Amino acid sequence: MLTCPNCGISPLAHATRELVYTYKGRTTTIPDVVVEHCAGCKEVMFAQGEHEHYGALVQAFRKQVDAEEGKTIRAMRKQLGLTQHKADQLFGDGEGDFARYEASEAHAPAALVKLLRLLGRHPELLDEVR
Ligand SMILES: [Zn+2]
Repeated sequence: MLTCPNCGISPLAHATRELVYTYKGRTTTIPDVVVEHCAGCKEVMFAQGEHEHYGALVQAFRKQVDAEEGKTIRAMRKQLGLTQHKADQLFGDGEGDFARYEASEAHAPAALVKLLRLLGRHPELLDEVR
């Protein structure tokens, strides 16, 4: 049995945990993550090979959240009656930004997402941005 590398005293024991992961305000639970647990110092670390397993599930979740964000940005832009070109001019740093955001090829800045959400609730303020 392996000794805990953190405290160097207690043996490590296998355990299965549910790990909560949050990305862009969305939370998921990664089930059945195999960890090594120290009863002495309470250190918890991934079991061998488990970091890759956990990482793959986290990546899949992030991809899903990003794809949903792209759809949300497209819906908010259309709600404001803007073409991608016009939205790029008003909010983007360059041409093609909204096409990339909506295709989930680029991350929209959080401030932009909040601004679009705000304008969706108060479309009369769009004239202030122009
Ligand atoms: Zn320990």
